[in-house]
This record gives sequence, C-alpha cells and structure tokens, in this order.
Amino acid sequence: MNWFRKPKYTTLTVSPPQIKPPSNIWVKCDGCGELIYKNELENNFMVCIKCNFHFRLSAKERIKITLDKGSFKEDFTEIHPVDFLGFYDTKGYNERLIEASKNTGCSDAIVCGYGKIDKKPVAIGVMDFSFMGGSMGSVVGEKITLLVEKATESKIPLIIFSSSGGARIQEGMVSLIQMAKTSGAISYFKKNGGFYLSALTDPTTGGVAASFALLGDIIIAEPKALIGFAGPRVIEQTIRQHLPSGFQTSEFLLSHGIIDMVVERKNLKKTISSLLTFFS
Ligand SMILES: [Zn+2]
Repeated sequence: MNWFRKPKYTTLTVSPPQIKPPSNIWVKCDGCGELIYKNELENNFMVCIKCNFHFRLSAKERIKITLDKGSFKEDFTEIHPVDFLGFYDTKGYNERLIEASKNTGCSDAIVCGYGKIDKKPVAIGVMDFSFMGGSMGSVVGEKITLLVEKATESKIPLIIFSSSGGARIQEGMVSLIQMAKTSGAISYFKKNGGFYLSALTDPTTGGVAASFALLGDIIIAEPKALIGFAGPRVIEQTIRQHLPSGFQTSEFLLSHGIIDMVVERKNLKKTISSLLTFFS
C-alpha cells in the first residue's frame, strides 16, 4: 500500500554562513588579536589602542604623519626597476614588479624626496615593506644614493625610514652592490658635515640593516620592531644556542647600545624635530 510507504527524504547539510568582519571597518590586531575600528586605528597613527602594537605603514602613510602638510615633493620618479637577469621563480620578476606597483602605487620599495618637519627642510627616503618585502634592488640603492648626494649639495639633514627584508634576490649580485654604494654615499655626506637620522621600523633586516640603516648619526626605532641581519632561526641553527628572549627587538638593541632611542609613533615627529634643531 503506497500511502504507508515513507517518502524518501534526503538530508541537506548546510554549513553556517562564515561571518567575516568587513575589512574596511574592522581590523584584527596582530599584537593582541582584538578587533579594532579602522577609523580609531587611523586616528591613533595605526597603533593599537589596546596593546600599543605598531602596524606597518605604507610609504605614503609614513610621509603623511611625519612631514608638514603639503610640504613633500617626490624626486627620482623617472627611475623604474628592470628585469635585467630575466629572473623567474614561481613567477617572473616583471610580473612581480607590475603586481607590487599596482598594489602599492609605488614604482619600487622606496619613496624619496624633500619636505619639511616643523618648517625645517629635510631630504627624506621612506621604504615600503608592502612592495616586495621592502627589498633593496638597484632602484632602491640608486634613489638613496641620489637623495644623499642632493642632501650633501643642499646641506640639509637626511632622514631614512627603513622597513625591509633585505636584498632583492631577483637582481642577484647587483642588489648586494647597493650596500656598498649607499654606505659610500652616506660616508661622503657625513664627511661634509651632513646629519643623518636613521629611523628603523618593523622589520629592518638583511642587507638594509647591514648598510645604510645602521649608519645613522642617530638611530631611532619604533617599539618592538624586528631589527637584525639574519633571522633568529638561522642564527640558532648556526651557533647551536638558544637566543635570549626579545633578541633582535628595538628594546634589546637599545639595551645593548646598537641604537639610540626607541620612540613611539605618536612621538616620532616631535622627537625628530627636536633632534633636527639640536644637531643643526
Ligand atoms: Zn592590539
């Protein structure tokens, strides 16, 4: 009898909708894991209100909070990177350059130019970590060298904000030469009485830490920034010893006399301005 037969039901399993916080309103803090209002974060120099974690800034954001409003004039915009080795790993170097340029709006991992801090003129270079890990290739080296030469000629102080994973592998040996090139230019600048303030932000490592970043007359760093040459794991494997806690942070380097000051982002402009006045 048909009416006694149970209808065949199939059970549908529906997974609950994944609710993700909209990234244009909320940001998850990498320091404490809390969700923070993006607006609140932006009004606090991109520093977490709850745990003081300093988010990475793009070159443009850094320039905006450091220089006097409307005073920045970018230079060397005509210099662009070229894939002279035809380098290919999982992607071609050219493809990576186009992608990075599209995502950051920069032509390479540094923006250089001139501006004013509390009306004091400066030559400034700001690295952008989001452009291929802030890696230093021939363009970064050339832009820094030209900036240092212009600062020498114009007798104005030089400020470089570093944020880099090191040399750019896609340019092979040419990227390593930039260490000597930038260091040479800075040495000439200093011999001619120039004042160089190096500001280290998270992370400053590899060839950048081993050249111009640690050559400042004054070296300041943001709290808890990773600063060092090789990564801690590589060092531990090489020397077969455990590293002390906090190794390669700004605070550790300050306590060992490698850097001069650890300055919170909200106090950076004020501090740089006082240093410029003192050393002029
Ligand atoms: Zn936090």
